[in-house]
Amino acid sequence: MGATQNTNQNVCQGCHTSDTTVKQRGRICLMAVLCDPCWNAYVNELAIEEGATAPPKVEPDPDDFALYEPATCGDCGAVVRHYPTNYDRWVYLAIEDLPAKDVAPRYRWRLETIRGRHSRVPVDIVAVRIRGMEPLPSDPVRPAHRAVCLNPDTKHEAEQERATDPK
Ligand SMILES: [Zn+2]
Ligand SMILES: [Zn+2]
Repeated sequence: MGATQNTNQNVCQGCHTSDTTVKQRGRICLMAVLCDPCWNAYVNELAIEEGATAPPKVEPDPDDFALYEPATCGDCGAVVRHYPTNYDRWVYLAIEDLPAKDVAPRYRWRLETIRGRHSRVPVDIVAVRIRGMEPLPSDPVRPAHRAVCLNPDTKHEAEQERATDPK
């Protein structure tokens, strides 16, 4: 991801100042043009709302041949998938898809593959929260791990969430 050098866009949509940190935000789709402080304030709130509060993945050292350890949930020990979001935050998702009807709306995600500009080689996978549109009940969605976590406290939260689901 190279930085976009477009001087017409160097005004922050949040505070309307122009600053060297102002740039287009969003990994796979443009979310906003913001300076660093406005962007951080925005995504911190969004991350809490969406549950994208996992720590960033540590890039493995290419010279380190130690066995790759899959990420696991700190609450229940289950294997989880660790993905970056569209906005520089990370989320733990379940390892497989479920039909949308089995996942409360706030836990629904999908995976988007980023491909190289001139090739079809997948470069990275980004997790995108499904919001705005309602998937068909049988459509596969990728639940946040919290929706399927086996920890009793988290499970309770997920059940509450489903009980208050307005459908
Ligand atoms: Zn700003
Ligand atoms: Zn768990």
